[in-house]
Amino acid sequence: MWCPHCREITVCAAVDPASFGNPSGQRWQRTDHTDIQWFRRGRVCQTCGHGFLTAEANEQFIGELVELRDALREIKANAEAYVAESSAAAGALSRLTASLNVLRALQVYQQTAHSGVIELTDEESQLALSGNKLAAVQSLRKRTALGLAEAVDLVNAHLKQSE
Ligand SMILES: [Zn+2]
Repeated sequence: MWCPHCREITVCAAVDPASFGNPSGQRWQRTDHTDIQWFRRGRVCQTCGHGFLTAEANEQFIGELVELRDALREIKANAEAYVAESSAAAGALSRLTASLNVLRALQVYQQTAHSGVIELTDEESQLALSGNKLAAVQSLRKRTALGLAEAVDLVNAHLKQSE
């Protein structure tokens, strides 16, 4: 019979399983699967001397074992594909969060988030107070436009990275 040590068919003697230190008794069954019953034999390979146990069981269990192995392989492959797709989705979300954090870090965003308006700088306040309101407004507009353009560029750059 097949010797698991020689990995080929050899002559194997049948011996008492108890001679390997196993509990005596040759009829066994699983208490959790009472339909699985087998007859245990001790075997000693006459070529290499390796001792091992065999279980004589209903052959249908071999077919069931193969079916279960195949099903498990398929489940495992599907689970791995699912995990890969989930982490890709998580990656896209985390890049989106990073983009939003960049946007939040911009001064123009912080200012509008706090007050709803962009405040005048000291320099702009001086201009406005000294009567040069037009210069103050122009400066403010330029700053806002630059800030928004910067925000758009940064978000676009982040979106491009995540493609
Ligand atoms: Zn052997």
